[in-house]
Amino acid sequence: EKTTVAIIGAGVAGLTLATFLHQAGVACVVLERHDRAYLEQRQRAGVVEARGVQMFERWGLAEQLLGGPVAQTIDYRLNGVSNIFEITGDAGSQGRFCTQQMLVLNLLRELLDGRAGDIRFDVTELTIHHAEGPQPHVRYTDATGTHELACDYVIGCDGSRGTSRAAIPPGVLTTYNYEFGYAWLAALVEAPVTGHPIMGVSDYGFVGQLPRGPHRSRYYLQCALSDTAEDWPDERLWQEIQRRTGDETIQPVVVHDKFFVPLRSVVHAPMQYGSLFLAGDAAHLVPPASAKGMNLALYDVDVLAQALRSTVRDQDPTTLQQYSDTCLARVWKYQEFALDMTNMLHDAGDASQHGPFRQQVARAQLASLFTSPTAAQLHSEYQRGTF
Ligand code: FAD
Repeated sequence: EKTTVAIIGAGVAGLTLATFLHQAGVACVVLERHDRAYLEQRQRAGVVEARGVQMFERWGLAEQLLGGPVAQTIDYRLNGVSNIFEITGDAGSQGRFCTQQMLVLNLLRELLDGRAGDIRFDVTELTIHHAEGPQPHVRYTDATGTHELACDYVIGCDGSRGTSRAAIPPGVLTTYNYEFGYAWLAALVEAPVTGHPIMGVSDYGFVGQLPRGPHRSRYYLQCALSDTAEDWPDERLWQEIQRRTGDETIQPVVVHDKFFVPLRSVVHAPMQYGSLFLAGDAAHLVPPASAKGMNLALYDVDVLAQALRSTVRDQDPTTLQQYSDTCLARVWKYQEFALDMTNMLHDAGDASQHGPFRQQVARAQLASLFTSPTAAQLHSEYQRGTF
C-alpha cells in the first residue's frame, strides 16, 4: 500500500496537518495508537492565538473548526489586586479560548465525517524504516494484522514521548533542555471563569484560572516537583485558590480531575532527518505559562502543509528543505517568551525559590506591562503570535 504522506499521531498537530493536506489535495494517512472516543475525551488546554485563528481563516477552515470566546484580556493579579491586561494589535481576528479538546473534536468530525479522511486508530508496534532516503515506509499492527505503508514523507506528530524521534539515529539531533524546578497542579473544576481569565502572582505562589467551556474552568497552582494528589486533597486546593487569588468568596465545587505538569522547555534540532519531519511536541516543549505549546504545533504544520503542497503539486521543494530552519527560528523566539513569562510569573510570587531580589525585579517587570506602552505592545504581539 502506498500514500504520499504518512502522519504519525492524531493529536492537534497530526489532525490539523491532515486537514490542510486534504484541502491542498495531497494524499495522506494518519496512524494513531488510541481510538476516536479516547481522543475526543482527552482534556487538553489551549488558547488559539490570533495568528492561529488567521491561519485557519486562510485555509478556509475557521468556521468549521474554531469555537469559544475571544481571548482578549488577562488579569495579571498581584496578591489579590487585579491588573487587567488588554491584548491589542493590528486589525484582524483575535485569539480564541478554543480548547484543544474542542479543536480535536472538530478536526475529527471534519476529516472523518466531512471528508472521508483516512485515520487508522488503535495501531500498535509502529516502526519507521528507511527514513534517511526518499522511499520510507511505516510498519504497524492493528486488529487485522501487520501492515506496511510506503510513502514519500513521514511526519512525526506523535508528541514528546512518541516513536518518530526515536527512529532518528543517535548523534543526528541535538537536544536542548531546561528544567524550571517546580510544577503546576492542574485542576478541572465545575465552575466557569466569571470575570477575566487569571494569571495570578502571589506571595504563596502562582495561581491561574482559565476557561474550559461555559460551565468549567481549570485552576493551575504552582507546586513542588515531588507533589502528588495525596499532597493536594480538595480542602487544601480550595484554601490555596482563595489565598493565592485573594478572593475568599470562591466556593468549593466539584473537582473533575487533578494532574501535575513539571515545567520544562525542550528543543530537538534539526526537525528533519531525510524524509522524516518532526512537528509539534515531538520536536519541542514549552512551559504552559506561555500557552504556546499548541500554537507552535499549529505553526509547524502550517509551514509543513504549504511546503508539501509546493513540493508535491508544483515540484518545488525549496520551502520543504527550509522547514526545520523556518520553524526553529520561531520556536526559539517563543522559547524566549515562555522562559521570560514563566520566570516573571513565578519569581514575582513566592520568594522562597529565587529570593527577594528576583521577586522585586519580576514585580517591576510585571508593572511595566501597565506603565510602558512599548512593553505592552511587545507583550501583545507575543500573545497574538505575531512577533
Ligand atoms: P499530542 O497532542 O501529544 O498528540 C500526539 C498524538 O500522537 C497522540 O494522539 C498520541 O496518542 C499519538 N501517538 C503517540 N505515540 C504514538 C505511536 N507510537 N503511534 C501512533 N500514535 C502515537 N498548550 C497550550 O498551548 N496551552 C496550554 O494551556 C497547555 N496545557 C497543557 C497541559 C498538559 C497536561 C499537557 C500534556 C500539555 C499542555 N499544552 C498546552 C501543550 C499542548 O497540549 C501540546 O503542545 C499539544 O498537545 C501538542 O500537540 P501534538 O499534536 O504535537 O501532540
